Amino acid sequence: MNIIFLGPPGAGKGTQAQLICQKLGIPQISTGDMLRAAIANQTETGLKAKSFMDAGQLVPDEVVIAIVKERLQAEDCKAGYILDGFPRTVAQAVALGGIADIQAVVNIAVADEALVKRLSGRRVCPVCGAPYSVERLAGQTQCAVDGATLIQRDDDKPETVLGRLTVYHQKTAPLIDFYRKEGKLLDIDGDQDAQAVTAAILTALEAK
Ligand code: ADP
Ligand code: ADP
Repeated sequence: MNIIFLGPPGAGKGTQAQLICQKLGIPQISTGDMLRAAIANQTETGLKAKSFMDAGQLVPDEVVIAIVKERLQAEDCKAGYILDGFPRTVAQAVALGGIADIQAVVNIAVADEALVKRLSGRRVCPVCGAPYSVERLAGQTQCAVDGATLIQRDDDKPETVLGRLTVYHQKTAPLIDFYRKEGKLLDIDGDQDAQAVTAAILTALEAK
């Protein structure tokens, strides 16, 4: 199955995509992780993306569409994939429609107040991108998989978070109706504990 995970920043897309990709044996394609890797490697894409990401703005459509197009051609995408954080604009959704056959769009909904709290408490592994929350880390400072010291993303600092939520409401939320009209949307309540969210997503996907 080719699946999109849609939702505001902090909704739990990365957390859930990682778990469900492991369970289904398909790759997680996170445009945020790919862009951060491009910046770290100082590639041309990274240079184009950096100032937008630092400001909490979306990276221009043509840059993101190009990296997704290339990634979807890889062999490991043949059996299906989860797109985590793409598309984020109607133009990206239209471009994706021309290159991929998407069966399901998992829309993870969480209220803005909860998102602000989650994002300020998010820590990530600088190696694999896995998200953790300060509350659940209980003083632990390293990634369970890589042993790397966890970091706070610059764009999770309070001054950028509210702007990212505004960008979500203006540019990404219209995709909810876009995919509902295509009959692909699965509505998931993301404001419950992570295990309950995973169970709800798996049930919705099985019924699809
Ligand atoms: P997204 O990829 O949608 O931006 P993440 O998966 O990175 O979201 O999660 C954002 C933050 O919220 C992380 O710190 C993560 O550990 C935490 N989180 C994820 N799911 C839940 C949940 N169901 N309840 C509480 N916190 C969560
Ligand atoms: P979050 O987990 O909080 O939703 P991501 O890691 O998915 O954040 O994205 C971080 C940043 O990367 C975004 O604020 C944006 O600048 C850029 N980005 C990621 N995906 C896209 C996309 N599909 N279109 C444009 N910009 C993107």
